[in-house]
Amino acid sequence: MSCGAPLRHTFVDLGMSPLCESYVPAERLNHMEPFYPLHAYVCGECFLVQLEEFVSPEEIFTEYAYFSSYADSWVDHMRRYADMITDRLGLGRDSFVVEVASNDGYLLQHFVKKGIPVLGIEPAANVAKVAVEKGIPTVVKFFGEETARELVAQGRRADLLCGANVLAQVPRLRDFVKGISILLAPDGVCTIEFPHLMRLMAENQFDTIYHEHFSYFSFLSAERVFATQGLVLFDVEEIPTHGGSLRVYARHADDASKPITERAHALRQREIDAGLLRLETYDGFAEQVKETKRKLIEFLIAAKRAGKRIAGYGAPGKGNTLLNYCGIRTDFVDFTVDRNTFKQGKFLPGTHIPIFAPEKIRDARPDYVLILPWNFKDEIISQMAYIREWGGRFVVPIPEVQTID
Ligand SMILES: [Zn+2]
Repeated sequence: MSCGAPLRHTFVDLGMSPLCESYVPAERLNHMEPFYPLHAYVCGECFLVQLEEFVSPEEIFTEYAYFSSYADSWVDHMRRYADMITDRLGLGRDSFVVEVASNDGYLLQHFVKKGIPVLGIEPAANVAKVAVEKGIPTVVKFFGEETARELVAQGRRADLLCGANVLAQVPRLRDFVKGISILLAPDGVCTIEFPHLMRLMAENQFDTIYHEHFSYFSFLSAERVFATQGLVLFDVEEIPTHGGSLRVYARHADDASKPITERAHALRQREIDAGLLRLETYDGFAEQVKETKRKLIEFLIAAKRAGKRIAGYGAPGKGNTLLNYCGIRTDFVDFTVDRNTFKQGKFLPGTHIPIFAPEKIRDARPDYVLILPWNFKDEIISQMAYIREWGGRFVVPIPEVQTID
């Protein structure tokens, strides 16, 4: 998909799965539900881990239920980023900040408060509308070469072009990166965040693989994709979001004012040392995933045999991969809860586990609360500390099953 080489090497095959953001309303519970192969490959040429494309991006992203502002720690993360990057690049009233996949304006609002001109680009119309209502200029479009050229034709080029949690979801990767190259001012900086493949592998985060995530990047594979469009990754930060992500800093190849940093060189070398440029390194992952499934099911069977009641917390995409792959339905998990009101009252795709508001946990007093968005586990455990009143315990499924009192 990225370099055009045929995909021959399986990274992991998670079987057939529904689109993980297609929450099912009650009136559709008895209808057919499409399932698609969830099979990740590693390219033997560029070492990009990627899905084969079975689902059109329009099908996935035009009515997307995820509103970024629902997770407190994510909102904090982006506020800190806005402060840091404003200082680092010396952004001000004459600057222009563009965010790709700007969602409900959770990030750009911080630049607006500083008086810095912004533009959001967001393909999901329902989500973009929320941003516009908050006073954040947003165009409803997919980002790529065409959108970038339209903006440049209006005389707009980005001093800062940012994207958090978007690169993995880009179906036409080269077109997207070409768009960056076109829209980025000659001395501009582009920062892109994505989950780090090295952490995904080391920490068994196979549930972050879903149809909406087409690509899974290492620094090395990202570097290659950017290089095809004349962009250089000159710096990188390792950040804790999504179980371990990279924030890469890109610039035009001919912008000599920003030398490649020591930490970019160092991470690059660490990935080479970890074997990410050798196919054998990717081979063991699939077996590790099967073993995680066995352990989780073992735990759930033992808990049910002991007469325990289990509820879920959260209805994230990753939870749907986990539950569908492991075949966990209401036979194990009675219900789940989510703060996102768009999900409440619906059912998880495939497994049809009902989704309620978080208060349901207090009423039902389950023995175990299975935390599906494990990347927010600390936040969730402190919010839900009251389950200890009735002896409830938390269960975190990834990197391996762990119960927390
Ligand atoms: Zn390739």
